Amino acid sequence: MRAVRSAPPGVSVVEVDEPDGPGEMIAIRSASICASDLMYIGYGSRFLLGHELAGVTEDGSAVAIEAIFGCDECEHCLAGDYNHCATVGTSALGIMADGGMSEWFRAPARSLKALPAGLDAGSACLVEPTAVAWHAARLAGAGPGRRVAVVGGGAIGLMAVAAAKTMGADEVSLEARYPHQIALGEHLGATAPSGNYDVVIEAAGSESGLYRSVELARPGGTMGVLGVFGPEVSWPQQQCFTKELRTVPSLGYCRHGATTDFDEAAAMLAADPGFVDALITHRFPIEDAEEAFRVASDKSTGALRVIIEP
Ligand SMILES: [Zn+2]
Ligand SMILES: [Zn+2]
Repeated sequence: MRAVRSAPPGVSVVEVDEPDGPGEMIAIRSASICASDLMYIGYGSRFLLGHELAGVTEDGSAVAIEAIFGCDECEHCLAGDYNHCATVGTSALGIMADGGMSEWFRAPARSLKALPAGLDAGSACLVEPTAVAWHAARLAGAGPGRRVAVVGGGAIGLMAVAAAKTMGADEVSLEARYPHQIALGEHLGATAPSGNYDVVIEAAGSESGLYRSVELARPGGTMGVLGVFGPEVSWPQQQCFTKELRTVPSLGYCRHGATTDFDEAAAMLAADPGFVDALITHRFPIEDAEEAFRVASDKSTGALRVIIEP
């Protein structure tokens, strides 16, 4: 089967054996390119990429795939916090294990999520990153009675805007750099930032985004951290200190109560097909994956999510 392998400084389309072993066999219909994939290439990964995945099972069910499998046995997994499982650091798709940007992929049955009406497998790879944004907004306390600002207008920031809106925040503002990001934020009902916010979600993944997030937060407020930062980051500790800002990092998604971030994210996307269509700025067949990655890594292309169709 054809698959997309990290081959720094880019990717290559390779022919590999179909996956065997445990898990359900999925015919992948959509796989989107994430900033994490670009980071994994930078780290020198030689694995197959792809953790934002949707497809069809052997019995014909359309599913999105949770990319955090967990071990299903430890105390964290049993409590639904599979994002806290010790296996997370050793099983990350595309950097520690082969991902699913390929014609076929195997995943545990527990990680397959049936799609709600209104969302098809050709677009449902977006559920995975949306679940990450949903989880961050939920942990940071976005909801009724709160003014929320999101810093960063990439796909993940826009997903956080949508999540905070869906959660019932009084007002959601978006700090974005590019006109197409601002326009999509307005479609979601986001305003331009002004004043201070109870909750600020850092979704730019940059130091400047961190400092701007702290600036927008009210004293005693909360900064949700959706961006991924390495140990070399200069953290605005002094500014967090003087505002007594609660900093809430977030990692992936999990189960909570009777539901999961993943299912809630899927329902949100299914309810707004226009948002899904606007997030998907490019589609490429798998044989054109090299070009797809070039487009995804070039900000001037206006790319939000670039989808590979195996
Ligand atoms: Zn991702
Ligand atoms: Zn576990």
